[in-house]
Amino acid sequence: MKQFRKIGILTSGGDAPGMNAAIRAAARRALYNDIEVVGIRNGYQGMIMGHFRELQSYMVGDIIQRGGTILKSARSEDFRTKEGRRQAYRNLKKEDIDGVVVIGGDGSFRGAREFTEEFSIPFVGVPGTIDNDLYGTDYTIGYDTALNTIIDAVDKIRDTASSHDRLFFIEVMGRDAGFLALRGGIATGAEAILIPEINYDTVNLKEHLAKSYKRRKLTNIVLVAEGDETGGAFEVAEQVKEDFKGFDIRVTVLGHIQRGGSPSAFDRVIASQMGAAAVEALLDDQKSVMVGMMNREIVHVPFNKTIKHQKDVNRSLLDLQEILSI
Ligand code: ADP
Repeated sequence: MKQFRKIGILTSGGDAPGMNAAIRAAARRALYNDIEVVGIRNGYQGMIMGHFRELQSYMVGDIIQRGGTILKSARSEDFRTKEGRRQAYRNLKKEDIDGVVVIGGDGSFRGAREFTEEFSIPFVGVPGTIDNDLYGTDYTIGYDTALNTIIDAVDKIRDTASSHDRLFFIEVMGRDAGFLALRGGIATGAEAILIPEINYDTVNLKEHLAKSYKRRKLTNIVLVAEGDETGGAFEVAEQVKEDFKGFDIRVTVLGHIQRGGSPSAFDRVIASQMGAAAVEALLDDQKSVMVGMMNREIVHVPFNKTIKHQKDVNRSLLDLQEILSI
């Protein structure tokens, strides 16, 4: 087992519910082995600025149920530069930190990979993003909670939509990945979903909606993953409105409510498992890996691999969505 004196923990990139549970687990797992723990505030920017603070066990108490991240998160342009990373290294050295746990998404792991290629301090990643778009893990921390928030919101919208026979376009998060829209769509019985993994086609959508109306389905909900191709829910509504004159079309962008809130039981548990597993990976002399969960087992995925590969949506769920939305 590798010996550590002090490890640093940070959260980076977009925040996700359950990050606090992961911070708590990583901190307590390290303390259990008598390793000191330092919380690095504001992501990589804080590493460069020296925003370090010792974390004792009680300091990570009463946070497992809270959304957001007590360590705060930030994006850092400086960390993209070699000079920025060198400054971060100097600070870690000065503080005697000999291992780092990074809780974040794809971008955060790119930064971690750059750093570990240049400097000798090992980094281990924990997947924290509501998008679930990381290759090598079935689930990311925050995804389940965001999904439940979406379901709650769409159910509410459906109540009013069906009272007025409306056609709703609801935009959910997922700029490059449609996991939230796909699962959210199945769970809410959405009539259609538009996700980046399927080429957007207005003609198809119009035909689908026309069929739906023909079958006397007077309330229709289309979940749109925010994204470049469709241009978002407002844009899609604009494109179909000519063909559906006389129908009451509305648009709702769910926005940042999807990032907040108390993490679900599922997210709290995987965050606890992954946070602890990240420290165990360091003790096991692993570096430049993301801790993931595949088929309920902890796995270690090299940063290179998770960055290089794109996780595909479950095609059978796509087919199911299509069948169930007739
Ligand atoms: P996420 O981790 O949620 O995907 P970002 O893509 O914003 O979030 O990445 C978080 C931070 O990681 C960035 O602000 C930047 O500091 C760092 N980062 C991202 N890509 C790189 C890179 N290629 N080289 C160095 N640092 C990077």
